Amino acid sequence: MRKLSFSPVELDAADPLRSFRSEFVINDPDLIYLDGNSLGRLPVRTASLMRQAVEQEWGVRLIRGWNEEWMALSERIGGKIARLIGAEPDEVILTDSTSVNLFKLAFAAMKYQADRDIILTDSLNFPSDLYVFQGLDAILTNACFVDVLKSDDDIITNEEFLLDRIGKETALVALSHVAYKSAFLYDMKRITEGAHEQGAMALWDLSHAVGAVPVDLNGAGADLAVGCTYKYLNGGPGSVAFLYVRKDLQDKLINPIWGWFAEQNPFEFTREFRPAAGIRRFLVSSPPVLSARATEPGLDLLLEAGMDRVRTKSVAQTEYLIRLCDEYLAPLGFELASPRDSAIHGSHVSIRHPEAFRINQAMISPPDGARQVIPDFRAPDLIRLGVAPLYNSFQDIYDTIHRIRQIVDGGIYLKMSGKREVVT
Ligand SMILES: *Cc1c(COP(=O)(O)O)cnc(C)c1O
Repeated sequence: MRKLSFSPVELDAADPLRSFRSEFVINDPDLIYLDGNSLGRLPVRTASLMRQAVEQEWGVRLIRGWNEEWMALSERIGGKIARLIGAEPDEVILTDSTSVNLFKLAFAAMKYQADRDIILTDSLNFPSDLYVFQGLDAILTNACFVDVLKSDDDIITNEEFLLDRIGKETALVALSHVAYKSAFLYDMKRITEGAHEQGAMALWDLSHAVGAVPVDLNGAGADLAVGCTYKYLNGGPGSVAFLYVRKDLQDKLINPIWGWFAEQNPFEFTREFRPAAGIRRFLVSSPPVLSARATEPGLDLLLEAGMDRVRTKSVAQTEYLIRLCDEYLAPLGFELASPRDSAIHGSHVSIRHPEAFRINQAMISPPDGARQVIPDFRAPDLIRLGVAPLYNSFQDIYDTIHRIRQIVDGGIYLKMSGKREVVT
């Protein structure tokens, strides 16, 4: 067995990615940020790029900006995302939000396979994804049926059961590649092949996977995918999302929203819609330029670091976190709510405790003047610790576990009100 050092100082000194931390804005060096899986930190380069985009491109170049830079953004940045997810550059485009893209692609898949009516997903999937599928059921004239496979422990989905459940009525198998609560990592290739064996399509939501684990859409034969850029891609709050449609499917599928940017030539202003060839037909509107601009520096940093190195560090860090948890937190009533085996585990770790909410509050707003730690809370009893290998150190992890121990052991959480904010 590999020997795991317990000294965070040694682990950080041996970390080949440690210099990337200085690429991010860290105003308060005392704050430990373990929420990069909800909102990634701001890259230093983004701040200056945004200043230039606002003052020069918008302020000075005005409408000329469209031809100079902006019209090509969605495809150009999509091409960079493609390199992180094992796709060709003309298979990925930056557009809309994750939920809107999910709607567009799930609709397209249901329409394309009108002789099948089941969307198969599971209870680990993100609620917005489940809502989008329920909404499709409500609006499609040929009612579709959303089959939600229940996970026994809320941590993993039994892939055997899932594969058995795919049948001749299944149009679409739609899952998150990394589950948002437990960080369970699905075997994308196995499930996609299982879907194809039954004639179904596979749609993957990469929101908690992209920038956290290596993804190989082409290698897995995936049909469709969507994903978010404000988590591990560090694109900024509510930044534009992306979608992927495998090359051979692009001209066969219909985007349900026929906006002018999906037209062959938006600036011809024809009255009859003619869908563009290729990935552009999945656009709708003019791109949110400033938001799109902000996604690029974070992508460049990940491409520089390389997903293999990011994954190696992520595995080392989540294993370290779990080991510290076993040692220091399990005796205080904590349970691991993520898979133990790194082969099926993404880059965040959930731990469960009956007092999770107040412990989380005491981490964020320490009543004893200790340093702040920001994780997030997921109802009813989970603390999610997001590890972003580009800027989190082993020391961050070590200090967090010791802070949690102090909060529980010293009864510090008892001072917290338990009152919930809108965003947790
Ligand atoms: C974060 C996340 C989303 C985000 O959806 P928005 O439409 O961008 O708000 C969607 N799906 C999953 C699985 C996510 O983790």
